[in-house]
Amino acid sequence: MDLLYKSTRGDKRSVSSAEAVVRGIAPDGGLYVPSVVPLLDKPFDKLVDMDYRELAAYIMAKFFIDFPRDILTECINNAYDSKYDDSRIVPVIEKAEAYFIELFHGPTLAFKDMALTFLPHLLKAASRIMDIDKEIVILTATSGDTGKAALEGFSGIEGTRIIVFYPKNGVSMVQERQMTTQEGNNTHVIAIEGNFDDAQKGVKAIFGDKEYGDKLAGKGYIFSSANSINIGRLVPQIVYYVFSYLDLIKRSKITAGENINIVVPTGNFGNILAAYYSKKMGLPVNKLICASNINNVLYDFINTGIYDRKRKFIVTSSPAMDILVSSNLERLLYDLAGEDAKVIDRLTGELADKGEFEITDEMKQGLSGFYGGFATEEETFSTIKDLYMKSGYLIDTHTSVGYTVYKKYVKDTADNTPAVIASTASPFKFPGSVAEAIDEKYMDMDEFSLLEVLSGMSGIKIPGPLLGIEDKKVIHNKSCAIEEMKDVVSTILGI
Ligand SMILES: *Cc1c(COP(=O)(O)O)cnc(C)c1O
Repeated sequence: MDLLYKSTRGDKRSVSSAEAVVRGIAPDGGLYVPSVVPLLDKPFDKLVDMDYRELAAYIMAKFFIDFPRDILTECINNAYDSKYDDSRIVPVIEKAEAYFIELFHGPTLAFKDMALTFLPHLLKAASRIMDIDKEIVILTATSGDTGKAALEGFSGIEGTRIIVFYPKNGVSMVQERQMTTQEGNNTHVIAIEGNFDDAQKGVKAIFGDKEYGDKLAGKGYIFSSANSINIGRLVPQIVYYVFSYLDLIKRSKITAGENINIVVPTGNFGNILAAYYSKKMGLPVNKLICASNINNVLYDFINTGIYDRKRKFIVTSSPAMDILVSSNLERLLYDLAGEDAKVIDRLTGELADKGEFEITDEMKQGLSGFYGGFATEEETFSTIKDLYMKSGYLIDTHTSVGYTVYKKYVKDTADNTPAVIASTASPFKFPGSVAEAIDEKYMDMDEFSLLEVLSGMSGIKIPGPLLGIEDKKVIHNKSCAIEEMKDVVSTILGI
């Protein structure tokens, strides 16, 4: 059967992967999902010798079937190259009875690079396949990491333009500086007076405004998304779960076919959804451990079947996970509902109108492959310190949420299945929090000086992309109110 992409909200028309990538979101506001999840159809011992690029080509060709193989390979080779400061692309590090999949060796030091160094090339190829003669405008809401990774990925890519909205007081100083110093004359960065959910809602509203879309098309523009709702971001994220599994086989830590647990610090539910898809492809996964910070909507959902966003949004030290509406959950719900789009319509409607929904008992049973946990700020900090004291290994706040929840899981269940933990950001990206976790005396030092401190502690050099960042010229300094987002876009595009 040919693989096409269909909307979770029931739009009758299925589309090719190229079209799904260009559109980002379905015309009815739903998310695109593959009509069938392809299987890993080669035995693991045949896959173990592939390097990251080869494995990526093997897996992605199954999802992007309408891209010529050589073009897809070119996109992959352009993505996973010397931009990564480790030739393995994704090193898997064994520490304290767990395996940390370090997903932060790309140009912006967070796991978003794993997809966003690739997506711009894919999008350009998709636009060619579809014969699109318009300039593609990438509109993105960011909780800090997507923004920079998307800017870096799209900067200078012909035929594209990128506009990023970030919450003014919701990102670290390093994150903000990374974005505001972005070069490339097709890049635009705007701070909004609101939180990430406001930014995401604003962007979704612009996407959903058909009249505005038509007006734009008349001016030679077409919108697309670099957020994790785009299938072009989800698929590349499947690769590293399989890669880490193969790595453990290669190092004789597990045998082919043995189960692992996967731990993912979660915000928008994109990264863990990729892990869920890897399981559907045939990766032997026992539990998917979903780790939240104190914005613990997903923890409640997994444990009760009730999703309730009516709560205070809390700014934490793991800002990329400060999210109350997890977009990608819709894809899981669709699956749990037996691909019944009417159920999704009802649930998303209830979430919009009442701020909550509850799934059926039958759907709840489908959640049994997940374990939901959360970490408080205190726990997040003490885990960073404990792990460092024990092993000299420094992790960032997001990864610490993951590791904290993993330890709770082991305590709860005594399950000692080997576990891989998605290490989603470099500790150098959140120097203030990481240094403070180690010793409170660093509390009042500025983040840029702390980079040196962390380097001294870990024996790891300050990553190249952050060298001298405090002296870099700020290029973007615009901000706007939530209601002004659309006007800002119009001004930038001159319409
Ligand atoms: C984006 C991000 C997350 C959350 O990932 P989702 O796919 O949104 O669940 C976790 N950690 C870091 C460092 C991130 O940048």
